Amino acid sequence: MTDATPTAQLPLAGVAEVMVIGASFAGAACAKRLIDAGISTLVIEKQALPRHKICSGILAPRGYRFLLENFGPLPAEVLHQPVNCHGVVFHFPHAPSVPLDFLGGPTPHLHRKYSDHWAIRASGAEIHDRTSFVSLEQDGTGVTVRAKHEGREVRYRARHVVAADGPSSPVVRALYPQYPAMIPWFMVGQKFHRIESCPLDERYFHFWFHPGLGHYTWSHARDGRQIVGVGFEVGGNLDRAHRHVVGWLRDRHHVHLGPAEDQEGCAENFGPSLINRYVFGHGQVLVTGQAAGFLNMLAEGMSCALHSGAIAGESIIEARQRAKPVQDVYRRLIQSEVQHCTDQWNPWTILTGNPHEADVWGALGRLSWRERAAVVNDLMRFVRLYKPYHWGRQMLDQAWQRAVHGEYASARWL
Ligand SMILES: Cc1cc2nc3c(=O)[nH]c(=O)nc-3n(C[C@H](O)[C@H](O)[C@H](O)COP(=O)(O)OP(=O)(O)OC[C@H]3O[C@@H](n4cnc5c(N)ncnc54)[C@H](O)[C@@H]3O)c2cc1C
Repeated sequence: MTDATPTAQLPLAGVAEVMVIGASFAGAACAKRLIDAGISTLVIEKQALPRHKICSGILAPRGYRFLLENFGPLPAEVLHQPVNCHGVVFHFPHAPSVPLDFLGGPTPHLHRKYSDHWAIRASGAEIHDRTSFVSLEQDGTGVTVRAKHEGREVRYRARHVVAADGPSSPVVRALYPQYPAMIPWFMVGQKFHRIESCPLDERYFHFWFHPGLGHYTWSHARDGRQIVGVGFEVGGNLDRAHRHVVGWLRDRHHVHLGPAEDQEGCAENFGPSLINRYVFGHGQVLVTGQAAGFLNMLAEGMSCALHSGAIAGESIIEARQRAKPVQDVYRRLIQSEVQHCTDQWNPWTILTGNPHEADVWGALGRLSWRERAAVVNDLMRFVRLYKPYHWGRQMLDQAWQRAVHGEYASARWL
C-alpha cells in the first residue's frame, strides 16, 4: 500500500458510529457522553499512550468540577507537585504584584500525560493509539477516514467524526486548507530549571503583564523545578526571549535558577476565542476543543476543551434522537461555551461577571487607589503590545456589543 492507494482499497481498521480524532480532554469528554448514551465510539491518537502533552496543567475551577462530576475523584498519579494551585499572581513592571485566588479553593495541578490517559480510558471508548489521521472523505451515509498506524495506511468508517486534535488540527487543515493563513499563530516555549532560590509563591501560577518581556510570560513550580515560559510571534527567538525573562526574574524578583535542564515548545492557534471566530466543521464532521479555537484567557484551555467536547457528543446524541442535521444542533448547543470563552477576554464581563471564577474584587480591594491606577496603566501598556493585530480591534468591538446589547454579534465564519 502506498500514499497513492485509493482509500477504499486500504485495510479496514475499525468501524464505529462515532470516530474521535485525538485522545485528549476534548476527545475524552466527547467519548464519555457518547458511550454513556450507548453509541459506539472509537478514538484514534497519533502518539503512544500515555502521551506527553506540553501544558502547565493548571485547571480552572470549572474544569475541576467537570472532571469530578464526569470522571470521579482524581487518582494521585495524575498530579504534579505541588499537587494543587491556589490561583494566579499577576506581576507588572511598575504596579505591585496581585495574587488572585480561585473561588472555591485550590484546583489540581494536572500531569497531562496521566490525567488525559485516565480520562480517555474512563470514557469506555475503544482506543487505537499510534494511529495518525491523514485525510477524510464524506458521503451521504458517513465518513471514511484515512489514517496511518505505525506507518501502515489503514481506513476507518464512521457515521460522524469529531476532531479533538488540538491547536494545529490536521482535521481542520483538511476541511479548510485556507485556515492556517486566517489566524494569528504564536509560539510558546518553556524551559525547566533547577532552583537555587525562588521567592515566588509555589502555590500560584505566575504571569507577567510586562510588554518588555513579550506577549505571554509565565513561571511556576513543578516537581522540584521551576518552569520559565515565554510566548512570542512565529519567527521569534525562544532562547533570547527566555534569557531576558530569567534576567528579569533575577533582578526584580530575586529568583536564582540553575541552567535549563529541559525545554519544549509548540505553536498555538491563539486568537479565535478572543474574537469569537470558531471552527465547528461541516457535514458529519464536528470540530471541538482547541482545534475549534477554544482557549481561555492566559491560555487556559482544559476547561473549555472538556466542555466543548462534551457538547459535541451531546449534539450527536440529540441529532440522532431527533433526526436533525448535526451541524445545526452543534452550532446551537455550543453557543453557551462560545459565550463563556469569549467572556473570558472581555474587560466588561471580567469586571461584572467574573468568568474566571477568581477573587478579582478582593484582590483589587487590597490595593490603594494609587496602586490600582498603576495596575490599569501597566495593563494598558501591555494591551498596546497587541495593537498591530487587527483582532485587537475586533475584540474591543465584541466587548462593546456585549456591553451594549447583552450578547455578541454572532460569528459567521467557518
Ligand atoms: C505551554 C502551554 C501551557 C499550557 N498551560 C495550560 C494550563 O495551565 N491550563 C490549561 O487549562 N491549559 C493550558 N494549556 C492549553 C491546553 O494544554 C490546551 O488548550 C488543551 O490541552 C486542549 O485540549 P484538546 O483536547 O482540545 O487538545 P490537545 O490537548 O491539544 O490534544 C489533541 C490530541 O490530538 C492528538 N493528535 C494531533 N494530531 C493528530 C492526528 N493527526 N491523528 C491523531 N491524533 C492527533 C494529539 O497527539 C493530542 O493527544 C497550555 C498550553 C501550552 C502550549
